Amino acid sequence: MPTPSDLERMLREAALRVTRPRIAVLGAVHRHPHADTESIIGAVRADLGVVSHQAVYDVLRALTTAGLVRRIQPSGALARYEARVGDNHHHVVCRSCGVIADVDCAVGHAPCLTACDDYGFAIDEAEVTYWGLCPSCVVPTPR
Ligand SMILES: [Zn+2]
Ligand SMILES: [Zn+2]
Repeated sequence: MPTPSDLERMLREAALRVTRPRIAVLGAVHRHPHADTESIIGAVRADLGVVSHQAVYDVLRALTTAGLVRRIQPSGALARYEARVGDNHHHVVCRSCGVIADVDCAVGHAPCLTACDDYGFAIDEAEVTYWGLCPSCVVPTPR
């Protein structure tokens, strides 16, 4: 887990002003991968005391724009945030309880970025969501 000084360095490298709420929010996203906004607000409040929802939303937006945090939103689910950015990994989502896990690219290094025809686009991300049931939600087959 990154230390507070690691978090400060990340903010500086992204040309963001270092503030306590930014350090707290970035730290919370590192500690709680795929957390939704409410859980991040809870973690930040445990760190800093009173922080408004709006302040946390604003920081999440700034961190996402700066590329320090990735926002994912499986269809029909709340937005989640993660600090694992830039590696084009994918997610598997449980249809029943909504738990999310990381999935690396299916074969080799980001082959899904090589579209058969890119229509002239400079593609930098392929968003793939695998859906299914997590181990705790799979109904055991009756014997
Ligand atoms: Zn589940
Ligand atoms: Zn992830």
